Amino acid sequence: MVSGLLMFGQVFAENEWNVNKYETITIQTMALISCIYLDQTRNAGGTMSKEQDTEGGKRPHDTELYVDVPRTRLPIVYHPIYNITFMGMEKLHPFDAGKWGKVVRFLKEEQFVTDENMVPALEASEEDLKVAHTKSYLSSLKWSAIVAGITEIPPLMFLPNCLVQRRVLRPLRTQTGGTIMAGKLAIERGWAINIGGGFHHCSGDEGGGFCAYADITLAIKFLFERVEGVATATIIDLDAHQGNGHERDFLGDRRVFIMDVYNCHIYPRDRIAKRAIRRNVELDWGTQDAEYLRKVELHTEGVLNEMRPDIVVYNAGTDVLDGDPLGGLAISPQGIIVRDEIVFRAVRGRGIPILMVTSGGYQKMTARIIADSILNLHHKGLIGPEEGEGSSPKPIGSESSVSEKNKCVFQFPNSLHLQ
Ligand SMILES: [Zn+2]
Repeated sequence: MVSGLLMFGQVFAENEWNVNKYETITIQTMALISCIYLDQTRNAGGTMSKEQDTEGGKRPHDTELYVDVPRTRLPIVYHPIYNITFMGMEKLHPFDAGKWGKVVRFLKEEQFVTDENMVPALEASEEDLKVAHTKSYLSSLKWSAIVAGITEIPPLMFLPNCLVQRRVLRPLRTQTGGTIMAGKLAIERGWAINIGGGFHHCSGDEGGGFCAYADITLAIKFLFERVEGVATATIIDLDAHQGNGHERDFLGDRRVFIMDVYNCHIYPRDRIAKRAIRRNVELDWGTQDAEYLRKVELHTEGVLNEMRPDIVVYNAGTDVLDGDPLGGLAISPQGIIVRDEIVFRAVRGRGIPILMVTSGGYQKMTARIIADSILNLHHKGLIGPEEGEGSSPKPIGSESSVSEKNKCVFQFPNSLHLQ
């Protein structure tokens, strides 16, 4: 995730800070359109019933992120607001500021997704964020200087916070909402992908490394709180950096098993967080495909054999790619595609629901690799049409039986027709 710092920092510093009238009007218009769109989406999707409650326990707050999604949609979550673009200036920059939108464009070109068959992400509300974040941390984001520190974009400190909220934090909150939504979808469908998210350096009370919201922690806590039968989770974090945010959040929590494979010589080198890692795989500078894939396969199989979780959260950062200026590893595009296949095959082959987030990696070719990897998962039958009703745990208050949670939901379809 940390490579995002450089991307936004440089784009902002070089190009961005003369906010002209045209840009302001455009941003405001886009925000207004997004508001209308989100409102319509929310109205159409409905909300979790107030009657849905835990027996005898504290009732979770009302949220719009656990909407019922029609079965006609794939469990792929995305919203155009994910992309933080700057009037076309990002095209002049070596880092890809619009990678999420490009992933979706490539998937559309291959006729795997359409606007109608994806799930539109909703922005996480203050109440949603409080499930993992402290009040004081969320309040601190109302100071532009704090956000500048977290995102490591110094020029942000000179902007009014309303602009910071609209142009930086709102897209990140929408990606965070997308991860939470994808958590529920993964349980219902066996798999789900948020095209964004994966802010693995942020914990409940501290942001950093361009990560302002702890979307992985939030997705897991939402599931623990709201979905019967989900009591354990495994995080498989294959971003090039150590995932110290979720590690700090789940330090000492035996319900969450964390496997982290990362370059141990780079940011954040968080020793306290490291204590939460139950399977720690440290890589050296310039690690290449053969060694990397061998370790990924060995340890993925190992953790799943050691503990069978109710959900796997897969942080599929692509900053392991050869040439990434911050990751320091040397994995080929094909190596990343094989890596993702190894993880999905191991998890889905055991009938365990998997939630994938895309996390760090912002080279020009990153979007193409992510799209190719998702298409490969599709072609290999590892993601595809939903399984039957009642094959997985249901949100609290629903009528279905929890006892079906361990049923194997994985199928190898002979043919997939997803359009
Ligand atoms: Zn990273």
